[in-house]
Amino acid sequence: MTPQDTSGPQPVSSRRVLTGLGVSGGIAIGRAFVVDRQFVHVPRHRLENDDINAEIAALHQAVASSIEHLHRLKNQSGARDSAASEELGFLLDAYIHMLTQSRLVRGAEERIRDQNMNAVWAVSDVIEDITGQFEAIDDRYLAARASDIRDVGLRLMRNLTGETDRAFDTAPRGAILVAEEVSPADMARLEPGQIASFVTAIGGAEGHAAIMARSLGLPAVLGATGIIGGVSGGEMMIVDGTRGEVILRPDAADLDRYRQRRDDWLAVRQKLLRLRDVPSETSDGVTLDLHANIELPVEVAGALANGATGIGLLRSEFMFMNKRYLPGEDEQYRELADIVTQMGGKPVTIRTLDIGGEKLALSLQEEMGTGPNPALGLRGVRLSLRRRDLLETQLAAILRASLLGPVRVLIPMVVSIHEMIRVRQVYNAVAKRLRQDGHGIPDMLPPLGAMIEIPAAALTIDALARECEFFAIGTNDLTQYTLAIDRSDDQVADLYDPLHPAVLRLIHEAVTVAGRHDIPISVCGEMAGDPRYTSLFIGFGLRNLSMSPVNLLPVKQRLRKIDLRTAADHAGRVMEQWDSARIAMMLDDFNDLA
Ligand code: PEP
Ligand code: MG
Repeated sequence: MTPQDTSGPQPVSSRRVLTGLGVSGGIAIGRAFVVDRQFVHVPRHRLENDDINAEIAALHQAVASSIEHLHRLKNQSGARDSAASEELGFLLDAYIHMLTQSRLVRGAEERIRDQNMNAVWAVSDVIEDITGQFEAIDDRYLAARASDIRDVGLRLMRNLTGETDRAFDTAPRGAILVAEEVSPADMARLEPGQIASFVTAIGGAEGHAAIMARSLGLPAVLGATGIIGGVSGGEMMIVDGTRGEVILRPDAADLDRYRQRRDDWLAVRQKLLRLRDVPSETSDGVTLDLHANIELPVEVAGALANGATGIGLLRSEFMFMNKRYLPGEDEQYRELADIVTQMGGKPVTIRTLDIGGEKLALSLQEEMGTGPNPALGLRGVRLSLRRRDLLETQLAAILRASLLGPVRVLIPMVVSIHEMIRVRQVYNAVAKRLRQDGHGIPDMLPPLGAMIEIPAAALTIDALARECEFFAIGTNDLTQYTLAIDRSDDQVADLYDPLHPAVLRLIHEAVTVAGRHDIPISVCGEMAGDPRYTSLFIGFGLRNLSMSPVNLLPVKQRLRKIDLRTAADHAGRVMEQWDSARIAMMLDDFNDLA
């Protein structure tokens, strides 16, 4: 099967403009590479009788996810008024129908129950069976239905395995990737420089695919209604990641205009680079640490090129998500050592595994299971404490890497002091074991800190202060969990509001209490990289912000125009507000004047 999607509704051939969420700035002009996710690895094994019910439950869970996914695509297609949209709507209805009490699902269930096949094998087997029968009949209509069944089955298998396609690997250099959805794991597997940009039908602005697009400096538009079926592989397109616009089959005037915009954008970036080595200080001389958030060793160069004075957040889970196997201590050590060495004495904050939610690793699939609500399930420190072997291996690799430069260890998704106490016990035990084995590790262990990204942690930060040597506020999850808005869901993206007074009060409270306990605190969520919020954070008392490398210089530019007294006064007034729209206006006004 080829990765280029040639099935489904054919695109119209005239120029078209789509809009979506511009999640990563910049302009890309290139040819579409349409991914239809046709590759699924099918592990096959016979189940123990005791495991059959759980496997059937997993099948039904995957069916439910597939149906939900199709409904979302259908809602999007309904918003369009073309004939192609109607056609797509019918097709998606047919797909949904195939998943509701169909021969496909019944057949898979029977194979699990009667032949002890694991679920993905059962689905693959039943698809072969049905499509084989259809294809044996010489009928074009049935042949097309066979391909539909295959498509639905693949969707189901992907949901079962958590495996996303590897068709991305074959994207020609400079292509613009077009896909229904790009998962964080897809992003982790991308070769740097391989694609110029990407556009998806599904995805929220604060999800990890968006975050990685910013880290890698790839212009990206997510939630672009109409992209599926709207363009064929090889056609020209333009992506404006700043405005959230996608132009399919641009005309000559579009190309001229956007080439000019791209040049302007690059000129602005180039000018910003002059700020790389100037101090990050306010107009009245208050210094801030501007650190970078990265996921993989290849991003260190970009962080340094943008003047990062440290890594404030290394999302170590991405070094698990780009592999099919679980990396051992030595392999983890080598990757961490590479990052610490490249940073040449600048501090590196390494966060332990935050697998779970939308971040999935093939090697931990069985461990994670399919909970009904992954964002509230086994994620971050919860998994690390459940699978102590994972935590021990990771801490050992971090401790060994800490000999090469200053390191801090950050624990994600903490809600209580008990978690930190248990992590510290493991940390001390690992250090002891390493010393006994003759590994020279520092006498003073690297500081251990907690992410403040769940309201419970922000509200009890005074308790956490007893066990933590530093804090990092994760505004992405803090906003998600405070407002009950899934950060990766484009359907509620307009409701995701980090300026909601509840979120601001939690941040403010956390910073104030940490200050009272004399414990360093930073912000490392996406808010830290938005220059609109810089004055507010300075006013709150923050002196360390960590962000996608691409945002470092715009934030530095802003903070150099701000003085502490004015920022603190203004932040005080902002905290008296109850309406986030009013807060946004106040910040805009302040920034216009500063
Ligand atoms: C956050 O939640 O703000 C954060 C920095 O962590 P992540 O985005 O990886 O969940
Ligand atoms: Mg988080």
